[in-house]
Amino acid sequence: MAPELRYDGQVAIITGAGAGLGRAYARFFASKGAKVVVNDLGGTFDAKGNQRSGAVADQVVDELTKAGAEAVADYNAVQNGDKIIETAIKAFGRVDILINNAGILRDITIRNMKDDDWNAIIDVHLHGAYKTTRAAWPYFRKQKYGRVIQTTSASGLFGNFGQGNYAAAKFGVVGLAETLAKEGAKYNIHSNIIAPAAASRLTQTVWPKEMMDLMGPEWVVPLVGYLVHPSCKENGSIFEAGAGHFSKIRWERSRGLLLKPDENLHPEHVLAGFKKITDFTLKDHPSESADLIGNLTAAGTQPPNKP
Ligand code: NAD
Repeated sequence: MAPELRYDGQVAIITGAGAGLGRAYARFFASKGAKVVVNDLGGTFDAKGNQRSGAVADQVVDELTKAGAEAVADYNAVQNGDKIIETAIKAFGRVDILINNAGILRDITIRNMKDDDWNAIIDVHLHGAYKTTRAAWPYFRKQKYGRVIQTTSASGLFGNFGQGNYAAAKFGVVGLAETLAKEGAKYNIHSNIIAPAAASRLTQTVWPKEMMDLMGPEWVVPLVGYLVHPSCKENGSIFEAGAGHFSKIRWERSRGLLLKPDENLHPEHVLAGFKKITDFTLKDHPSESADLIGNLTAAGTQPPNKP
């Protein structure tokens, strides 16, 4: 096996670390030398009602400190992510690793969705991820080092019946991470995205018990551990992890159809060439938008900004 990957002297912030995947990350990083901020407001799975409690974060901190690690609890909602970063700075003076993990569900079809169902989900998953990352960014830039994980979901990547709000928020964090990978690269700040699958209170109604038994959150942890290690060069990528399976997801662009963009271009041309547009025999795997200037030139059109 490769040499042990450790995080000695580093500070890891994990949101929603009072249970499920977040707690598994907290246990892992604490056991590998990191100082850990255990953030969790201890809410209900759908954030309905007012049942918040710091107890879940306290329990995890208690467990980690008893095992000899340094850890502090933070009870802020991720929507106040700046306060979570403040907790890390006050307690440990720095932040190296940020794992945006906190989450809730409000599954409902678009037909029955209320604005509150939409807003609550966007608020926790997307706005929360923005708030923590935005607040950590100046520290990452100053120290020319940072590792960020955004948590998406298969629902965000592929869609899922009854999860329009959740899927939109989870796809939102993909765009955020892909952009921050570009903004952070020259400062050695890496942003990657994981779509986990693990037994937790969010998934207890999704899979049968026999499957849940094989899907411990700890089987997602190794991927996250590697992605945020200083030796890992991966940046801006999407991964799936669950039950010991790890895979990478990437975009695929068909070679497509290239026509001259002028007044003679009509929907009928798209109809006639649709097979070519959707044919993936010739393809690439882009991390940038299509080369429009190159396409204009290839189609025999003079690009507007060229003489
Ligand atoms: P979980 O419910 O066990 O843990 C989520 C934790 O986040 C809870 O302890 C909760 O109190 C906390 N939390 C909720 N809202 C918060 C807020 N506003 N501020 C701070 N903490 C908050 O769920 P989990 O399955 O461990 O999910 C972790 C993440 O993984 C979520 O983002 C979820 O959407 C994502 N995810 C999980 C799965 C899976 O299979 N478990 C699949 C896809 C995505």
